[in-house]
Amino acid sequence: MEPIVIVGTGLGGYTVAREFRKLDQSAALRMITASGGQFYSKPMLSNALAAGKTAETLAIADAPQMADRLKAEIDTRVTLLSIDPQAQTLEVDGDTLAYSKLVLTVGADPIRLTLAGDAADAVLSVNDLEDYAGFREAVAGVPRIAIMGAGLIGCEFANDLAGVGYAVDVIDPAAWPLGRLLPPEAGASMRQALASVGVHWHLGQVVNTVDRVKAGYRLQLSNGDVIETDAVMSAVGLRPRTSLARQAGLTVNRGIVVDRTLRTSDAHIYALGDCAEVAGLVLPFVMPIMQAGRALARTLTGEDTPVTYPAMPVVVKTPAWPTVVSPPPLDDQGEWEVAADSNGVRALFRDAAGDLKGLALCGEATEEKNALTRELPALLA
Ligand SMILES: Cc1cc2nc3c(=O)[nH]c(=O)nc-3n(C[C@H](O)[C@H](O)[C@H](O)COP(=O)(O)OP(=O)(O)OC[C@H]3O[C@@H](n4cnc5c(N)ncnc54)[C@H](O)[C@@H]3O)c2cc1C
Repeated sequence: MEPIVIVGTGLGGYTVAREFRKLDQSAALRMITASGGQFYSKPMLSNALAAGKTAETLAIADAPQMADRLKAEIDTRVTLLSIDPQAQTLEVDGDTLAYSKLVLTVGADPIRLTLAGDAADAVLSVNDLEDYAGFREAVAGVPRIAIMGAGLIGCEFANDLAGVGYAVDVIDPAAWPLGRLLPPEAGASMRQALASVGVHWHLGQVVNTVDRVKAGYRLQLSNGDVIETDAVMSAVGLRPRTSLARQAGLTVNRGIVVDRTLRTSDAHIYALGDCAEVAGLVLPFVMPIMQAGRALARTLTGEDTPVTYPAMPVVVKTPAWPTVVSPPPLDDQGEWEVAADSNGVRALFRDAAGDLKGLALCGEATEEKNALTRELPALLA
């Protein structure tokens, strides 16, 4: 029997492997990854500087330790080049591997904006341990950094960097931070809280040009403003890695399309994590990956198990203004009810029938997270 092959050793790959081993100790399991295969908590990347963490100290276990724990063969620094679903084989760096079942957990790529200027290639993004090592090097010993994007990751890095004394400029086309997740009052409170720890906002603007200057970089914004800085980070979003699946003829939409058993359009290939679109949902977060990993492990043992998604609010790791969000579905009709004071913001999105469909809690209002989450509908019941 050929092994089950998992491509990717991020949270998706290691979660499904661990959950599978709880159910089956003997089936052959092989993992391949383009990375070094360290097990680490990716969410910590945006809080790691203030915590004094290096890429080395963020790693919880290395690939040999994981191979031992999971009774799996783990090939690191090996890139999947193509998939042949008919032959059930993979082409990897000069070799061909056969699989009985294949799990794709290849993650997502940071979106790169098209920028003018001679330093567009110097813009950093932080999406894995190696990126983090490069980022630490780039900001070591300099006082200033500019961040493009005021979404979850941009705001978290801004808080972390400002917290350890960097002068941080954040540029975003929206009128307030976390513009897609927070109603205006909550966005304004985040803006103010991060400003109070030293974040300098450039909202309603985009970066047009990044040029090298004698000491660092010069950013030209769409309103003509100029920012001088020492490092530039992009945090404008992620795009699921779908090209190998597409080339193999699998159905791809925003992500690799899978049903609730995490099965792709090919009966022997599954996908989960940031690369996958599960029953129409692309949710690049830890909680959905844990749910999917548990369900898929059972399916891999032969017992088809649909994933369920309860309501899963996301905690924004901005200690200057603790925040929890569960945005309402895009097509939902309803209104935000907002109560705000200097201690917090409690914004609840209710539909016409008065049912809770989304929330944004900031400051002291985050204490209500568990009680309110129980009122939210499941995403996949
Ligand atoms: C800075 C940051 C902070 C975050 N904070 C939070 C948070 O607070 N809460 C939350 O819920 N979520 C958070 N997230 C999101 C969460 O961390 C991700 O959803 C999750 O880690 C993704 O796991 P994954 O296994 O799908 O992808 P990844 O961890 O990206 O793993 C992909 C794997 O695939 C491998 N790979 C890719 N292509 C190939 C190839 N061709 N051949 C071989 N191997 C390949 C890679 O080497 C890697 O091992 C954060 C993300 C970031 C970047």
